[in-house]
Amino acid sequence: MAAVTSLDASPAQNTSASTDLFARALKVTPGGVNSPVRAFRAVGGTPRFMARAAGPYLYDVDGNEYVDLVCSWGPMILGHAHPAVVEAVQRAVTAGTSYGTPCVPEVELGVEIVDRTPVDQVRLVSSGTEATMSAIRLARGFTGRELVVKFAGCYHGHVDSLLASAGSGVATFALPGTPGVPIGSTADTIVLPYNDEAAVRETFTSHGDRIACVITEAAAGNMGAVAPVEGFNAALSSLCREHGALFVSDEVMTGFRVGRRGYWGLDGAVEGWVPDLMTFGKVMGGGFPAAAFGGRRDVMAYLAPEGPVYQAGTLSGNPIAATAGLTTLRLATDEVYARLDQVAATVMGLVHEALSAAGVPHVVQAAGNLFSAFFVDPGEVPVVRSFADANRQQLHQFRAFFHAMLEAGVYLPPSAFEAWFVSASHDDRAVDVIASALPKAAAAAAAARPEGTG
Ligand SMILES: *Cc1c(COP(=O)(O)O)cnc(C)c1O
Repeated sequence: MAAVTSLDASPAQNTSASTDLFARALKVTPGGVNSPVRAFRAVGGTPRFMARAAGPYLYDVDGNEYVDLVCSWGPMILGHAHPAVVEAVQRAVTAGTSYGTPCVPEVELGVEIVDRTPVDQVRLVSSGTEATMSAIRLARGFTGRELVVKFAGCYHGHVDSLLASAGSGVATFALPGTPGVPIGSTADTIVLPYNDEAAVRETFTSHGDRIACVITEAAAGNMGAVAPVEGFNAALSSLCREHGALFVSDEVMTGFRVGRRGYWGLDGAVEGWVPDLMTFGKVMGGGFPAAAFGGRRDVMAYLAPEGPVYQAGTLSGNPIAATAGLTTLRLATDEVYARLDQVAATVMGLVHEALSAAGVPHVVQAAGNLFSAFFVDPGEVPVVRSFADANRQQLHQFRAFFHAMLEAGVYLPPSAFEAWFVSASHDDRAVDVIASALPKAAAAAAAARPEGTG
């Protein structure tokens, strides 16, 4: 009279259509994907090809349903295919898809961004990479200096000068993190450990008059969720001001996701400082390619056609993308942010509970409503504060955990170095699916052995 639970009874997922598509994709695209992390290289296995999404769910080409904890890497705060966004986009499309002239939605999106953030002006672009690339160029043009300071583990898109790794601990002139980036492109980039104010101070002491800007994620979300320690961003802001450099806060991931005013609303607005330049993307495009950079009026005045620093884009401010972004932002009310915070806290609690019960060493931590589980020993790393900390994870445990969650219908980021994302559409049913998937996944992580995983 064994009661068979639905989990035990669930057959292995059929993934034949994804497998076929992946084989076709591999023929025409390197790695079969158009952005590397989608390829499952870090976790092994075949990526799932999605056919449809609605609310908190993704549906793959084999018909499997997943609770989505990636949310397109951030943009889908309202959930997938939100009816009001879909309707606004459908209406916009019938009015033409691109004009190559100024248009109404881009002005309204600019107004909305300026209204929510401390920037005086914005320039719309098509990707976060373009936003950070342009912000760096503008900072260099404005200051007439060349050096850029960034932090290990912070991702700012695939800009040549920002694709740099660093030596450990000490201020190092960076070497390119990828072939194809000339040494000259990163020679003016200094990479420092995240959350290490002393290292930033030292760097300003030795190179202060040559530093154009410090760029940082407002809260790091590309090595897992790693919040800035209290006062870190404020210190960056004041050091920059002291030395005539610009402080560039990259909110491509956090902007309009962790709150109405992004991460700045959680620290700068409280502590009374303002970045000189900011970059935005993801949520502000509502699932379409739209991003922006903005900042102080006197700095933005350096941008063409007003000033000498050139920057342009055929599809910048595209009416469809701007409409999707604007509609998303207008629907992202205080209630939506409260719901995101609540779901994030619930899921964090469930993950912590399951991993603890299975005896898997871990740290679950958040930066606003971005969060992630780090498979580190909390005795050694009680809080993950830097890329070096994040690198102490037992990656084989994450791999086993990831695949067990996937099998049970939960789509996690396919890397241990990514934040997890929820949406306001994650309801009780979605949370229940996560809750029932967790015990088995935690057990799989506990049983995983470094050499035994595929
Ligand atoms: C995603 C991201 C980028 C790059 O944006 P793309 O639109 O992928 O080019 C830049 N900075 C941060 C913090 C990001 O999370």
